[in-house]
Amino acid sequence: MATSAYWRTRLQRYRLMGNKCSTCNKIFFPPRLVCPYCGSVKLSESKLPERGRLVDYTVVYSAPECYETVIPYVVGLVELENGVKIVAPITDVDVNEVEEGMEVELTIRRLPEQLEGGMICYTYKFRPVIK
Ligand SMILES: [Zn+2]
Repeated sequence: MATSAYWRTRLQRYRLMGNKCSTCNKIFFPPRLVCPYCGSVKLSESKLPERGRLVDYTVVYSAPECYETVIPYVVGLVELENGVKIVAPITDVDVNEVEEGMEVELTIRRLPEQLEGGMICYTYKFRPVIK
């Protein structure tokens, strides 16, 4: 990832930030310049809930080069507590124990690669809620 792209999206990396549309009141993720529901540009930042439910998932057995060391891994569709849906990696779970409907929470993780200049990158994932 280029440094400029990393900088533009930095807020999303440390917290889960979406947008709220002032015209139709919908909340969405990832943030955009134009509301995908009504086309309005009257948007504000909206911090998203950090807990949700896994509504669907897939187990990835074949991965791009830099992810080969972590296959198999799980990519899930998470419905947050406010109804916003996010596609994200699911971590800290055995691929044989993952199931639809499981409660998950946000976790911020360091990416294996670094940017030029040694900048360390972080991204979001979800993990099962330990009860
Ligand atoms: Zn809208």
